[in-house]
Amino acid sequence: MSQEDRFDILVVGAGYAGSTAALITARSGLKVGLIERGEFLGSKIVMGNLLYSGVLRQIIPDLEENAPLERFIRRRRFCCLNGESAASFEFESQKYNESPHNDLWSVRRDRFDPWLASQVEAAGGKFFNRLTIKELIVENENVVGVRTADGREMFSDIVIVAAGGNSKLVPQTGDHPEYPPDSYILGIAESLTVPPEIIESRFMLKGREGVSINFYGHVIEGNVGSAFLTTGIDSIMIGAVFNARSLKGQVRNAPLRFLMNLKNHPIVQRMIEGGRTRALSTYIIPEIGFDFMRNLYCNGAMIVGDAAGFLNSNTYPIGSVMATLSALFAAETAIEAKRKGDYSKRTLSKYSERIVSSFTMDDMRKFNRNPWFTDHYPEFFGVYPQMAVDLAEDFLSNDATAPRSRQQRVFQRVKKELSVFPFLRELMESRKRFGDYL
Ligand SMILES: Cc1cc2nc3c(=O)[nH]c(=O)nc-3n(C[C@H](O)[C@H](O)[C@H](O)COP(=O)(O)OP(=O)(O)OC[C@H]3O[C@@H](n4cnc5c(N)ncnc54)[C@H](O)[C@@H]3O)c2cc1C
Repeated sequence: MSQEDRFDILVVGAGYAGSTAALITARSGLKVGLIERGEFLGSKIVMGNLLYSGVLRQIIPDLEENAPLERFIRRRRFCCLNGESAASFEFESQKYNESPHNDLWSVRRDRFDPWLASQVEAAGGKFFNRLTIKELIVENENVVGVRTADGREMFSDIVIVAAGGNSKLVPQTGDHPEYPPDSYILGIAESLTVPPEIIESRFMLKGREGVSINFYGHVIEGNVGSAFLTTGIDSIMIGAVFNARSLKGQVRNAPLRFLMNLKNHPIVQRMIEGGRTRALSTYIIPEIGFDFMRNLYCNGAMIVGDAAGFLNSNTYPIGSVMATLSALFAAETAIEAKRKGDYSKRTLSKYSERIVSSFTMDDMRKFNRNPWFTDHYPEFFGVYPQMAVDLAEDFLSNDATAPRSRQQRVFQRVKKELSVFPFLRELMESRKRFGDYL
């Protein structure tokens, strides 16, 4: 083995989690290799393009000045749709124009991920792209390195697996619980090129202000999930994320159909008019949840980000928080292990301890109830949002009847269509299940 292929730490996958772990360990003076299968970083990654930057800002204090962030999110809209109309709740604050801008930015992964990997190189790490890791090298129950698809072997004291939600490398790190076969989240996203001045006038934004919209109801055709729109500097990202289970086998073409529902909705159509498709991709990952969480470490290896199962909500994906936080904890543990010269499970278990004592585990526990809730009450995602729009429409429609009789008509509809008692019971149940989130 050449010295070139011997490292202190090897990190597989240069998404948020992998590049963050590689950056922290490289900065501490360790010899780090960051390996990515893609040719163009970030080009294959589908997401709503929102970066929750709080953790990353602690690691890179000049993130705002130097990173290719797109727009800070000044306005958030939660929007229920029926076929023609929309009823929204919107929050906007002038406060967010001040640094750190509520730590919420839009990013384009094809711009942001290469920059993050370049920070790893600037800190002395070695970056390999177009290199697919086929398997971990295990000797005497210790992970000691990785083998590429074309047979190259690279060795290290510790391997950090950051290869995303479908990583085939994870099972090689030990026993993991079996997922229920229908526990998958599907996502589809399209990036549209739109000139900055059009985005700014259409959404009433100034300079680097941005907007993020979540859509509920019509688009997902009564299934469990939501759709999104995020403004970048010169692009608009739109897409949908939903759970496969609620489709009850009708998965074929569903992602594209939902995307078209969104794009063809008369209200959304105006927002994206004239946009040229830049990229379109789909994604499938297990909705893991606390009960099916993976073992986070073994002798010589740790698992971070989506690969570790930290994305567990199809209704509110905040994977960038979990990815960067788990990477931070794994990197700190790796640095400690190197100092001790002990890469065994015992030392690497500190990673798991850090996770357990952070809010990450609290979130996992709470969102663990998410699949239960969405299976039992899919109407919160399909029927109720559409009904809210129907009722608003009725209430606000101007016809020859007196306002008082319109109000009565709406209350009659609420009574009839909502069946108040089951609805109240569901609300109580959701409060019990989600506690602090509601
Ligand atoms: C539709 C959708 C919308 C979302 N929207 C948001 C959002 O707006 N905000 C948010 O915070 N989160 C969002 N998420 C979640 C977020 O995208 C993920 O949680 C986050 O990208 C996880 O980062 P990661 O580094 O763990 O994995 P990834 O970002 O998936 O990175 C994994 C990397 O590993 C590489 N890789 C994989 N296998 C190998 C291999 N064998 N060898 C070498 N390299 C390999 C991949 O090419 C990739 O670059 C969304 C998810 C979906 C599905």
